Amino acid sequence: MKKLNLIILGPPGSGKDTQVQAILKEIDAEFISTGDIARKLASLDSSLGKKVKEKMEKGELLDDKLILEELSKKLEKINKEKGIIFDGYPRNISQAEELRKALFRLGRSIDKVIFLDVPEKELIRRLSTRFICKKCGRSILAGGKKCPFCGGKLVKRIDDISNSRILNRIQVYYEKTELLIEYYEKEGLLVAINGNQSPEDVTKDILKVLKEG
Ligand code: AMP
Repeated sequence: MKKLNLIILGPPGSGKDTQVQAILKEIDAEFISTGDIARKLASLDSSLGKKVKEKMEKGELLDDKLILEELSKKLEKINKEKGIIFDGYPRNISQAEELRKALFRLGRSIDKVIFLDVPEKELIRRLSTRFICKKCGRSILAGGKKCPFCGGKLVKRIDDISNSRILNRIQVYYEKTELLIEYYEKEGLLVAINGNQSPEDVTKDILKVLKEG
């Protein structure tokens, strides 16, 4: 498969992280998760860390400029021969414009935007039963105390802790991020995938689209 620059777009709980990990086994790419960047910032023992944590707890988006700065640092380090998968970025139209400019400067452009389509009721079910493995970072729905993949400890994400935080994140998605569907549709880049099936079937559908080119 040729070098691909992909965006995985979808509401919270649509399976973006899981699908990124599955696709990475099949294509030669690096991934950038702005959610991971945000969680790292939130763990800093500083006033910035505190501010970021507060916003994340409320389910709000972080400042566009701050996220862009962190994203740009990562982008510069990626080997030119490799593709890139974006998870969690862009989250609004302005970020989409910034991403286009940043990629242009690096001689890259987006090849496809994979939109994971999942109904709201299912998103809420997943987010309220989701745990994250502290060791390998995988999302695990419900289950015991240990990660079935690596035995690591399972914890709740700070923004999955209460129903109001979950609903707020979904609301922010509908207000700001959902506009990107039309934006990328107009650019002829959007591919909608039924995200309301088993993770393995979602992966199959995505890979089929990527292989078709
Ligand atoms: P995620 O893991 O992608 O669901 O992101 C978790 C949180 O990180 C979000 O609720 C935001 O607070 C923050 N975040 C992640 N990506 C972005 C972004 N592109 N722009 C602004 N905030 C972001």
